Amino acid sequence: MVIVSKFGGGILKDEENFKAAAKIIRSKKEHTVVVVSAANGVTDSIIEALHSASKGTFDVDLFTEDLAKKHESLIKHIENPKIRESAVSRIREKAATLNKLLCGVLFLREASPRVNDLAMSFGERLSGIVFEAHLLDSGINAKAFEADRIGILTTDRFGKAKPLLEETRLNLERTIIPFLSKGTAVVTGFFGADEHGNVTTFGRGGSDFSAGIIANVLDAERLEIWKDVPGFMSADPRIVPQAKKIDMLSYDEAEELGYFGAKILHPKTIAPMRSKNIPIVIKSILEPSSDGTQISEKRHKMTQVAKSVAVKMNVSMLTVKGAEVLDMTQTIPFLSKLAEYDISLDAVSTSETGMSLVFDKNDVHKVKNALKHFPSAEGIEFEEDVSLVGLIGEGMKSEPGISGRLFRSIGDAGVSIRMISQGASEINISFVIKRKDVNVALNAIHAEFME
Ligand code: ASP
Ligand code: MG
Repeated sequence: MVIVSKFGGGILKDEENFKAAAKIIRSKKEHTVVVVSAANGVTDSIIEALHSASKGTFDVDLFTEDLAKKHESLIKHIENPKIRESAVSRIREKAATLNKLLCGVLFLREASPRVNDLAMSFGERLSGIVFEAHLLDSGINAKAFEADRIGILTTDRFGKAKPLLEETRLNLERTIIPFLSKGTAVVTGFFGADEHGNVTTFGRGGSDFSAGIIANVLDAERLEIWKDVPGFMSADPRIVPQAKKIDMLSYDEAEELGYFGAKILHPKTIAPMRSKNIPIVIKSILEPSSDGTQISEKRHKMTQVAKSVAVKMNVSMLTVKGAEVLDMTQTIPFLSKLAEYDISLDAVSTSETGMSLVFDKNDVHKVKNALKHFPSAEGIEFEEDVSLVGLIGEGMKSEPGISGRLFRSIGDAGVSIRMISQGASEINISFVIKRKDVNVALNAIHAEFME
Protein backbone atom coordinates (compact mmCIF):
# COMPACT_ATOMS: atom_id res chain seq x y z
CA MET A 1 0.00 0.00 0.00
CA VAL A 2 1.14 3.48 -0.84
CA ILE A 3 0.45 6.78 0.81
CA VAL A 4 0.85 10.14 -0.87
CA SER A 5 2.15 13.03 1.26
CA LYS A 6 1.97 16.52 -0.16
CA PHE A 7 3.94 19.45 1.21
CA GLY A 8 2.79 22.92 0.20
CA GLY A 9 4.82 25.97 -0.64
CA GLY A 10 3.58 27.77 2.47
CA ILE A 11 5.62 25.44 4.67
CA LEU A 12 8.56 24.96 2.32
CA LYS A 13 10.05 28.27 3.34
CA ASP A 14 13.17 27.50 5.34
CA GLU A 15 15.62 24.70 5.94
CA GLU A 16 14.10 23.91 9.32
CA ASN A 17 10.75 23.11 7.74
CA PHE A 18 12.34 20.89 5.08
CA LYS A 19 14.02 19.03 7.94
CA ALA A 20 10.73 18.73 9.81
CA ALA A 21 9.12 17.36 6.65
CA ALA A 22 11.89 14.81 6.18
CA LYS A 23 11.47 13.70 9.80
CA ILE A 24 7.77 13.11 9.20
CA ILE A 25 8.52 10.93 6.18
CA ARG A 26 11.15 9.03 8.12
CA SER A 27 8.61 8.01 10.73
CA LYS A 28 6.44 6.23 8.12
CA LYS A 29 6.33 2.52 7.59
CA GLU A 30 4.32 2.61 4.37
CA HIS A 31 5.69 3.17 0.88
CA THR A 32 5.47 6.89 0.33
CA VAL A 33 5.26 9.25 -2.59
CA VAL A 34 6.03 12.83 -1.59
CA VAL A 35 4.51 15.56 -3.75
CA VAL A 36 6.09 18.99 -3.47
CA SER A 37 5.07 22.53 -4.31
CA ALA A 38 7.59 25.17 -5.20
CA ALA A 39 9.28 26.74 -2.17
CA ASN A 40 7.46 29.69 -0.66
CA GLY A 41 7.08 32.63 -3.06
CA VAL A 42 9.01 31.03 -5.93
CA THR A 43 6.15 30.55 -8.39
CA ASP A 44 5.09 34.17 -7.88
CA SER A 45 8.64 35.33 -8.50
CA ILE A 46 8.88 33.34 -11.75
CA ILE A 47 5.58 34.78 -12.93
CA GLU A 48 6.85 38.28 -12.21
CA ALA A 49 10.09 37.49 -14.00
CA LEU A 50 8.18 36.33 -17.09
CA HIS A 51 6.12 39.48 -16.99
CA SER A 52 9.10 41.81 -16.72
CA ALA A 53 11.13 39.91 -19.30
CA SER A 54 8.28 40.12 -21.81
CA LYS A 55 8.26 43.89 -21.28
CA GLY A 56 11.90 43.89 -22.34
CA THR A 57 13.54 45.10 -19.15
CA PHE A 58 14.83 42.46 -16.84
CA ASP A 59 18.08 41.30 -15.31
CA VAL A 60 17.77 37.59 -16.03
CA ASP A 61 21.20 36.68 -14.61
CA LEU A 62 20.50 38.41 -11.33
CA PHE A 63 17.15 36.66 -11.03
CA THR A 64 18.36 33.12 -11.71
CA GLU A 65 21.42 33.64 -9.52
CA ASP A 66 19.16 34.70 -6.62
CA LEU A 67 16.89 31.76 -7.25
CA ALA A 68 19.80 29.31 -7.20
CA LYS A 69 21.17 30.91 -4.01
CA LYS A 70 17.79 30.78 -2.35
CA HIS A 71 17.59 27.02 -2.95
CA GLU A 72 21.19 26.48 -1.92
CA SER A 73 20.40 28.20 1.35
CA LEU A 74 17.72 25.56 1.93
CA ILE A 75 20.37 22.82 2.06
CA LYS A 76 23.04 24.85 3.84
CA HIS A 77 23.23 22.60 6.90
CA ILE A 78 23.45 19.31 5.08
CA GLU A 79 26.83 18.08 6.13
CA ASN A 80 27.29 15.12 3.84
CA PRO A 81 29.26 16.73 0.97
CA LYS A 82 28.15 14.16 -1.58
CA ILE A 83 24.46 14.87 -0.97
CA ARG A 84 24.95 18.64 -0.84
CA GLU A 85 27.16 18.89 -3.89
CA SER A 86 24.92 16.72 -6.02
CA ALA A 87 21.94 18.90 -5.07
CA VAL A 88 23.85 22.14 -5.70
CA SER A 89 24.95 21.04 -9.12
CA ARG A 90 21.40 20.08 -10.10
CA ILE A 91 20.03 23.35 -8.70
CA ARG A 92 22.60 25.18 -10.86
CA GLU A 93 21.58 23.16 -13.92
CA LYS A 94 17.91 24.02 -13.43
CA ALA A 95 18.72 27.70 -12.87
CA ALA A 96 20.80 27.72 -16.07
CA THR A 97 17.95 26.23 -18.10
CA LEU A 98 15.48 28.74 -16.69
CA ASN A 99 18.01 31.45 -17.47
CA LYS A 100 18.03 30.49 -21.17
CA LEU A 101 14.28 30.37 -21.24
CA LEU A 102 13.93 33.85 -19.71
CA CYS A 103 16.60 35.23 -22.07
CA GLY A 104 14.44 33.95 -24.93
CA VAL A 105 11.42 35.76 -23.49
CA LEU A 106 13.47 38.92 -23.03
CA PHE A 107 14.75 38.76 -26.61
CA LEU A 108 11.34 38.08 -28.14
CA ARG A 109 9.51 40.32 -25.67
CA GLU A 110 6.85 37.71 -25.56
CA ALA A 111 5.94 34.72 -23.42
CA SER A 112 3.46 32.32 -24.96
CA PRO A 113 1.22 30.21 -22.71
CA ARG A 114 3.46 27.25 -23.50
CA VAL A 115 6.59 29.09 -22.40
CA ASN A 116 4.83 30.40 -19.28
CA ASP A 117 3.93 26.88 -18.15
CA LEU A 118 7.40 25.56 -18.82
CA ALA A 119 9.06 28.40 -16.88
CA MET A 120 6.63 28.11 -13.97
CA SER A 121 7.44 24.41 -13.56
CA PHE A 122 10.96 25.25 -12.39
CA GLY A 123 9.83 26.13 -8.85
CA GLU A 124 8.71 22.56 -8.21
CA ARG A 125 11.75 21.09 -10.00
CA LEU A 126 14.01 23.02 -7.64
CA SER A 127 12.12 22.22 -4.44
CA GLY A 128 12.07 18.52 -5.41
CA ILE A 129 15.86 18.52 -5.45
CA VAL A 130 15.97 20.20 -2.03
CA PHE A 131 13.45 17.76 -0.58
CA GLU A 132 15.33 14.76 -1.92
CA ALA A 133 18.55 16.06 -0.34
CA HIS A 134 16.91 16.36 3.09
CA LEU A 135 15.46 12.86 2.88
CA LEU A 136 18.85 11.43 1.89
CA ASP A 137 20.48 13.40 4.69
CA SER A 138 18.12 11.90 7.24
CA GLY A 139 19.01 8.43 6.06
CA ILE A 140 16.10 7.67 3.74
CA ASN A 141 16.74 6.41 0.26
CA ALA A 142 14.94 8.96 -1.94
CA LYS A 143 14.81 10.15 -5.50
CA ALA A 144 13.35 13.30 -7.05
CA PHE A 145 11.20 12.70 -10.12
CA GLU A 146 9.91 15.38 -12.50
CA ALA A 147 6.26 15.04 -13.46
CA ASP A 148 6.81 15.49 -17.20
CA ARG A 149 9.55 12.86 -17.20
CA ILE A 150 7.57 10.21 -15.37
CA GLY A 151 4.49 10.59 -17.53
CA ILE A 152 1.88 12.62 -15.70
CA LEU A 153 -0.03 13.07 -18.89
CA THR A 154 -2.49 15.91 -19.48
CA THR A 155 -4.54 17.66 -22.13
CA ASP A 156 -2.72 20.45 -23.98
CA ARG A 157 -4.57 23.36 -22.34
CA PHE A 158 -1.74 25.44 -20.89
CA GLY A 159 -2.44 26.89 -17.48
CA LYS A 160 -5.58 24.78 -17.10
CA ALA A 161 -4.54 21.27 -18.05
CA LYS A 162 -6.68 18.25 -17.23
CA PRO A 163 -5.06 14.96 -16.31
CA LEU A 164 -5.36 11.85 -18.47
CA LEU A 165 -5.65 9.34 -15.65
CA GLU A 166 -5.47 6.02 -17.46
CA GLU A 167 -2.34 6.95 -19.44
CA THR A 168 -0.79 8.43 -16.31
CA ARG A 169 -1.46 5.25 -14.36
CA LEU A 170 0.26 3.11 -16.98
CA ASN A 171 3.23 5.47 -17.04
CA LEU A 172 3.64 5.64 -13.25
CA GLU A 173 3.51 1.87 -13.00
CA ARG A 174 6.59 1.83 -15.14
CA THR A 175 8.42 4.91 -13.84
CA ILE A 176 7.91 5.26 -10.10
CA ILE A 177 6.24 2.13 -8.74
CA PRO A 178 9.40 0.02 -9.14
CA PHE A 179 11.32 2.57 -7.06
CA LEU A 180 8.86 2.53 -4.14
CA SER A 181 10.05 -0.81 -2.77
CA LYS A 182 13.51 0.76 -2.48
CA GLY A 183 12.79 4.24 -1.28
CA THR A 184 10.65 7.37 -1.22
CA ALA A 185 9.76 9.01 -4.51
CA VAL A 186 9.65 12.81 -4.47
CA VAL A 187 7.44 14.03 -7.31
CA THR A 188 6.97 17.62 -8.48
CA GLY A 189 3.42 18.92 -8.16
CA PHE A 190 1.65 21.55 -10.27
CA PHE A 191 2.48 20.30 -13.77
CA GLY A 192 2.55 17.44 -16.20
CA ALA A 193 3.06 17.20 -19.94
CA ASP A 194 0.82 16.79 -22.97
CA GLU A 195 1.25 13.98 -25.47
CA HIS A 196 3.92 15.97 -27.34
CA GLY A 197 5.96 16.45 -24.20
CA ASN A 198 5.04 20.11 -23.71
CA VAL A 199 4.89 21.06 -20.05
CA THR A 200 1.39 21.98 -18.88
CA THR A 201 0.30 23.32 -15.48
CA PHE A 202 -2.92 22.62 -13.60
CA GLY A 203 -3.39 26.26 -12.56
CA ARG A 204 -2.30 28.14 -9.45
CA GLY A 205 -2.29 26.05 -6.31
CA GLY A 206 -2.33 22.94 -8.50
CA SER A 207 0.09 20.84 -6.46
CA ASP A 208 -2.73 19.54 -4.28
CA PHE A 209 -4.44 18.39 -7.46
CA SER A 210 -1.23 16.67 -8.62
CA ALA A 211 -1.13 14.82 -5.30
CA GLY A 212 -4.76 13.81 -5.85
CA ILE A 213 -4.02 12.54 -9.35
CA ILE A 214 -1.09 10.48 -8.10
CA ALA A 215 -3.07 9.10 -5.14
CA ASN A 216 -5.87 8.15 -7.53
CA VAL A 217 -3.77 6.34 -10.11
CA LEU A 218 -1.71 4.53 -7.45
CA ASP A 219 -4.85 3.55 -5.49
CA ALA A 220 -3.26 5.10 -2.42
CA GLU A 221 -4.39 4.17 1.05
CA ARG A 222 -4.64 7.86 1.92
CA LEU A 223 -3.60 11.31 0.84
CA GLU A 224 -1.92 13.53 3.41
CA ILE A 225 -1.77 17.30 2.94
CA TRP A 226 0.81 18.88 5.21
CA LYS A 227 0.41 22.52 6.27
CA ASP A 228 1.42 24.78 9.11
CA VAL A 229 -2.14 25.10 10.37
CA PRO A 230 -3.99 22.32 12.23
CA GLY A 231 -6.62 21.73 9.51
CA PHE A 232 -9.87 23.23 8.23
CA MET A 233 -11.35 25.73 10.67
CA SER A 234 -14.93 26.61 11.57
CA ALA A 235 -14.13 30.18 10.42
CA ASP A 236 -11.11 32.28 9.57
CA PRO A 237 -9.53 32.79 13.02
CA ARG A 238 -8.32 36.26 11.98
CA ILE A 239 -11.97 37.28 11.72
CA VAL A 240 -13.57 34.99 14.29
CA PRO A 241 -11.38 34.53 17.39
CA GLN A 242 -13.63 31.67 18.60
CA ALA A 243 -12.93 29.61 15.46
CA LYS A 244 -11.85 26.01 16.07
CA LYS A 245 -10.44 23.15 14.06
CA ILE A 246 -12.90 20.87 12.29
CA ASP A 247 -12.18 17.18 12.97
CA MET A 248 -14.09 15.62 10.10
CA LEU A 249 -15.51 16.73 6.79
CA SER A 250 -17.25 14.94 3.95
CA TYR A 251 -15.78 15.28 0.46
CA ASP A 252 -18.64 17.62 -0.47
CA GLU A 253 -18.07 19.88 2.51
CA ALA A 254 -14.33 20.12 1.86
CA GLU A 255 -15.01 20.86 -1.80
CA GLU A 256 -17.47 23.64 -0.97
CA LEU A 257 -15.02 25.17 1.52
CA GLY A 258 -12.26 24.98 -1.06
CA TYR A 259 -14.33 26.77 -3.67
CA PHE A 260 -14.99 29.39 -1.05
CA GLY A 261 -11.31 30.07 -1.01
CA ALA A 262 -10.34 28.28 2.20
CA LYS A 263 -6.67 28.03 1.40
CA ILE A 264 -6.33 24.57 2.94
CA LEU A 265 -6.99 22.23 0.04
CA HIS A 266 -7.52 22.95 -3.64
CA PRO A 267 -11.11 21.89 -4.34
CA LYS A 268 -10.16 20.13 -7.58
CA THR A 269 -8.31 17.57 -5.44
CA ILE A 270 -11.56 16.12 -4.13
CA ALA A 271 -12.95 14.50 -7.31
CA PRO A 272 -10.10 12.02 -7.89
CA MET A 273 -10.25 11.05 -4.19
CA ARG A 274 -14.03 10.69 -4.09
CA SER A 275 -14.08 8.45 -7.18
CA LYS A 276 -11.83 5.94 -5.43
CA ASN A 277 -12.99 6.62 -1.90
CA ILE A 278 -9.49 7.55 -0.72
CA PRO A 279 -9.47 9.47 2.57
CA ILE A 280 -7.62 12.78 2.83
CA VAL A 281 -5.95 13.99 6.01
CA ILE A 282 -4.90 17.60 6.57
CA LYS A 283 -2.13 17.87 9.15
CA SER A 284 0.27 20.41 10.56
CA ILE A 285 4.02 19.83 10.43
CA LEU A 286 4.14 21.67 13.76
CA GLU A 287 2.04 18.96 15.46
CA PRO A 288 2.49 15.83 13.34
CA SER A 289 0.97 13.52 15.94
CA SER A 290 -2.34 15.36 16.31
CA ASP A 291 -5.29 14.32 14.20
CA GLY A 292 -5.82 17.26 11.88
CA THR A 293 -8.92 17.25 9.67
CA GLN A 294 -10.06 13.95 8.17
CA ILE A 295 -11.95 14.11 4.89
CA SER A 296 -13.83 11.10 3.64
CA GLU A 297 -17.05 9.95 2.08
CA LYS A 298 -18.74 9.64 5.46
CA ARG A 299 -21.49 12.08 6.14
CA HIS A 300 -20.97 12.43 9.84
CA LYS A 301 -23.95 12.82 12.07
CA MET A 302 -23.08 15.95 13.94
CA THR A 303 -24.80 17.62 16.77
CA GLN A 304 -24.21 20.84 14.92
CA VAL A 305 -25.82 21.31 11.52
CA ALA A 306 -23.24 23.67 10.07
CA LYS A 307 -19.51 23.12 10.25
CA SER A 308 -17.98 26.26 8.87
CA VAL A 309 -18.73 29.79 7.83
CA ALA A 310 -16.57 30.86 4.94
CA VAL A 311 -16.10 34.16 3.17
CA LYS A 312 -14.86 35.33 -0.18
CA MET A 313 -13.84 38.88 0.63
CA ASN A 314 -13.21 40.37 -2.77
CA VAL A 315 -16.12 39.74 -5.04
CA SER A 316 -18.28 42.01 -7.15
CA MET A 317 -21.96 41.74 -7.79
CA LEU A 318 -23.70 42.63 -11.02
CA THR A 319 -27.41 43.20 -10.83
CA VAL A 320 -29.52 43.41 -13.95
CA LYS A 321 -32.99 44.69 -13.23
CA GLY A 322 -36.20 44.68 -15.16
CA ALA A 323 -37.58 41.84 -17.30
CA GLU A 324 -37.51 43.92 -20.47
CA VAL A 325 -33.86 44.72 -20.02
CA LEU A 326 -32.29 41.31 -20.14
CA ASP A 327 -35.28 39.03 -20.59
CA MET A 328 -35.28 35.33 -20.03
CA THR A 329 -34.51 34.61 -23.68
CA GLN A 330 -31.25 36.49 -23.24
CA THR A 331 -30.22 34.99 -19.94
CA ILE A 332 -28.64 31.87 -21.40
CA PRO A 333 -26.77 33.71 -24.19
CA PHE A 334 -25.56 36.18 -21.57
CA LEU A 335 -24.27 33.42 -19.31
CA SER A 336 -22.51 31.69 -22.20
CA LYS A 337 -20.93 34.99 -23.18
CA LEU A 338 -19.51 35.23 -19.67
CA ALA A 339 -18.09 31.73 -20.05
CA GLU A 340 -16.52 32.79 -23.36
CA TYR A 341 -14.78 35.59 -21.51
CA ASP A 342 -13.49 33.05 -19.01
CA ILE A 343 -15.46 34.47 -16.11
CA SER A 344 -16.40 31.97 -13.46
CA LEU A 345 -19.38 32.78 -11.32
CA ASP A 346 -19.33 32.33 -7.57
CA ALA A 347 -23.06 32.66 -7.12
CA VAL A 348 -26.14 33.42 -9.20
CA SER A 349 -29.66 34.30 -8.29
CA THR A 350 -32.43 34.93 -10.79
CA SER A 351 -36.04 35.88 -10.71
CA GLU A 352 -38.59 36.87 -13.29
CA THR A 353 -37.55 40.49 -12.99
CA GLY A 354 -33.85 40.43 -12.58
CA MET A 355 -30.65 38.59 -12.05
CA SER A 356 -27.66 38.95 -9.75
CA LEU A 357 -24.27 37.50 -10.49
CA VAL A 358 -21.33 37.29 -8.13
CA PHE A 359 -17.79 36.90 -9.42
CA ASP A 360 -14.19 37.68 -8.56
CA LYS A 361 -13.56 41.41 -8.20
CA ASN A 362 -10.65 41.19 -10.63
CA ASP A 363 -13.03 40.11 -13.39
CA VAL A 364 -15.10 43.29 -13.42
CA HIS A 365 -13.51 44.61 -16.61
CA LYS A 366 -14.11 41.28 -18.35
CA VAL A 367 -17.76 41.32 -17.31
CA LYS A 368 -18.06 44.87 -18.66
CA ASN A 369 -16.61 43.74 -21.98
CA ALA A 370 -18.99 40.80 -22.16
CA LEU A 371 -21.90 43.17 -21.48
CA LYS A 372 -21.06 45.16 -24.62
CA HIS A 373 -22.60 42.31 -26.61
CA PHE A 374 -25.96 43.18 -25.05
CA PRO A 375 -26.39 46.83 -25.99
CA SER A 376 -30.06 46.81 -25.05
CA ALA A 377 -29.29 45.81 -21.48
CA GLU A 378 -30.01 48.62 -19.06
CA GLY A 379 -30.59 48.85 -15.35
CA ILE A 380 -27.16 47.46 -14.75
CA GLU A 381 -25.51 47.99 -11.45
CA PHE A 382 -22.12 46.91 -10.18
CA GLU A 383 -21.38 46.65 -6.49
CA GLU A 384 -17.72 46.32 -5.80
CA ASP A 385 -17.60 46.68 -2.03
CA VAL A 386 -19.26 43.35 -1.25
CA SER A 387 -18.29 39.91 0.04
CA LEU A 388 -19.79 36.47 -0.39
CA VAL A 389 -20.43 34.52 2.81
CA GLY A 390 -21.32 30.82 2.92
CA LEU A 391 -22.56 28.54 5.65
CA ILE A 392 -21.52 24.97 4.97
CA GLY A 393 -22.48 21.62 6.46
CA GLU A 394 -24.06 18.30 5.51
CA GLY A 395 -26.38 18.58 8.49
CA MET A 396 -28.27 21.46 6.89
CA LYS A 397 -29.74 19.13 4.26
CA SER A 398 -32.20 17.41 6.53
CA GLU A 399 -32.71 20.11 9.11
CA PRO A 400 -35.59 22.56 8.58
CA GLY A 401 -35.35 26.17 9.68
CA ILE A 402 -31.66 26.70 9.12
CA SER A 403 -31.99 29.69 6.83
CA GLY A 404 -34.42 31.24 9.30
CA ARG A 405 -31.85 30.96 12.08
CA LEU A 406 -29.07 32.10 9.79
CA PHE A 407 -30.74 35.24 8.56
CA ARG A 408 -32.19 36.10 11.95
CA SER A 409 -28.72 35.97 13.51
CA ILE A 410 -27.36 38.36 10.90
CA GLY A 411 -30.42 40.60 11.07
CA ASP A 412 -30.12 40.81 14.85
CA ALA A 413 -26.52 41.91 14.35
CA GLY A 414 -27.79 44.76 12.17
CA VAL A 415 -26.40 43.48 8.87
CA SER A 416 -28.51 43.59 5.74
CA ILE A 417 -28.27 41.08 2.94
CA ARG A 418 -27.82 42.03 -0.70
CA MET A 419 -28.47 38.67 -2.32
CA ILE A 420 -29.07 35.02 -1.39
CA SER A 421 -28.26 31.83 -3.22
CA GLN A 422 -28.66 28.28 -2.01
CA GLY A 423 -26.11 25.87 -3.43
CA ALA A 424 -27.47 23.04 -5.57
CA SER A 425 -25.72 20.65 -3.21
CA GLU A 426 -27.98 21.79 -0.33
CA ILE A 427 -25.00 21.83 1.98
CA ASN A 428 -24.25 25.47 1.39
CA ILE A 429 -26.26 28.65 1.78
CA SER A 430 -24.46 31.71 0.47
CA PHE A 431 -25.30 35.36 0.51
CA VAL A 432 -23.79 38.71 -0.28
CA ILE A 433 -23.21 41.48 2.24
CA LYS A 434 -21.26 44.73 2.29
CA ARG A 435 -17.57 44.09 2.92
CA LYS A 436 -17.59 46.35 5.98
CA ASP A 437 -20.17 44.03 7.62
CA VAL A 438 -18.16 40.82 7.28
CA ASN A 439 -16.67 40.89 10.76
CA VAL A 440 -19.94 41.39 12.56
CA ALA A 441 -21.84 38.90 10.40
CA LEU A 442 -19.31 36.09 10.68
CA ASN A 443 -19.02 36.37 14.43
CA ALA A 444 -22.81 36.39 14.77
CA ILE A 445 -23.21 33.29 12.57
CA HIS A 446 -20.38 31.48 14.32
CA ALA A 447 -21.96 32.16 17.71
CA GLU A 448 -25.33 30.91 16.47
CA PHE A 449 -24.20 27.65 14.86
CA MET A 450 -20.71 26.74 15.97
CA GLU A 451 -20.36 27.73 19.61
N1 ASP B 1 3.66 26.39 -7.03
C1 ASP B 1 2.34 26.46 -7.61
C2 ASP B 1 1.66 27.74 -7.20
O1 ASP B 1 2.21 28.51 -6.44
C3 ASP B 1 1.51 25.28 -7.28
C4 ASP B 1 1.20 25.08 -5.83
O2 ASP B 1 1.89 25.64 -4.98
O3 ASP B 1 0.27 24.34 -5.51
O4 ASP B 1 0.60 28.02 -7.67
MG1 MG C 1 0.91 26.45 -3.00
